[in-house]
Amino acid sequence: MTIIDGKAVSANLREKIKAEAALLPEKPGLAVILVGDDPASQTYVKNKKLACEQCGFYSEEYRLPASTTQEELLLLIEKLNCDDKINGILVQLPVPEHIDDVAVIQAISPEKDVDAFGYENVGKIMIGNFHYVPCTPAGVMQLLKAYNIEIGGKNAVVVGRSNIVGKPQAMLLLHANATVTIAHSKTANLADVTKNADILVSAVGIPKFIKKDMVKDGAVVIDVGMNRDENGKLCGDVDFEAVKDKTSYITPVPGGVGPMTITMLMQNTLESKKQQIQKNK
Ligand code: NDP
Repeated sequence: MTIIDGKAVSANLREKIKAEAALLPEKPGLAVILVGDDPASQTYVKNKKLACEQCGFYSEEYRLPASTTQEELLLLIEKLNCDDKINGILVQLPVPEHIDDVAVIQAISPEKDVDAFGYENVGKIMIGNFHYVPCTPAGVMQLLKAYNIEIGGKNAVVVGRSNIVGKPQAMLLLHANATVTIAHSKTANLADVTKNADILVSAVGIPKFIKKDMVKDGAVVIDVGMNRDENGKLCGDVDFEAVKDKTSYITPVPGGVGPMTITMLMQNTLESKKQQIQKNK
């Protein structure tokens, strides 16, 4: 059994991104917008700014009060859409309830939609011809690649069907020629489905949800979950201690998929800058 070291893979990738960015005539630029004062969102925003510094990117941060109107937010996005220094615009979700998150995501120009949440980029991912990778699922694919884990012809089961993780994860595995099953809360006999997985990706959001008897011997288990256990400690979806010895590869939480997500955001911002340079030639 090998424990996949997401921190190391992520650090390695960030070095490559930094080296590639340093060769460009201008720095890639990311604007991060946070509306309200959700503590988890504040941490994510702080980490994104830090990642920009590490990769030598230009960054702008907008911390707006929870009372910000949708119109004000859309105006800011419009301004950033037209700003050549900015290659990626990220609105940290969730936004306060009075703001329509779909309208906000759709307002970001597809070239600067580095989260790849907008309709155009989602469509491209579906077709398999995409510039921007959905960050968390793409991070999972990079981990599999870093450990030379074969995907083609394998049975992959993704538990969870959210638009930001489960669905795009299933598409990326499908593009890599896995035979993919997507399971969710209405799946009957879930353990029978997951036991069939050579590669099991869990994106559910429930601590210790994936138990030993749900995992096939020698499976690759990827835990996307970021949850708090009964003691408030960060944990994944997988009952790690019970499951690990049954697997060939497993990601820990923390230190598995988590560090990859922001790295893939940096990758997308770099890609956006490269496209802009190409277009202006
Ligand atoms: P959502 O809540 O949007 O989706 C959860 C999915 O799990 C749903 O599709 C739901 O099914 C399914 N589910 C819930 N209960 C069960 C059950 N009993 N059996 C089977 N399936 C079930 O969550 P996200 O996709 O946004 O996130 C999932 C997890 O990943 C969370 O812990 C989140 O914190 C973490 N995460 C981690 C990231 C990282 O960077 N590492 C980034 C993003 C998320 P249904 O559709 O039927 O309701």
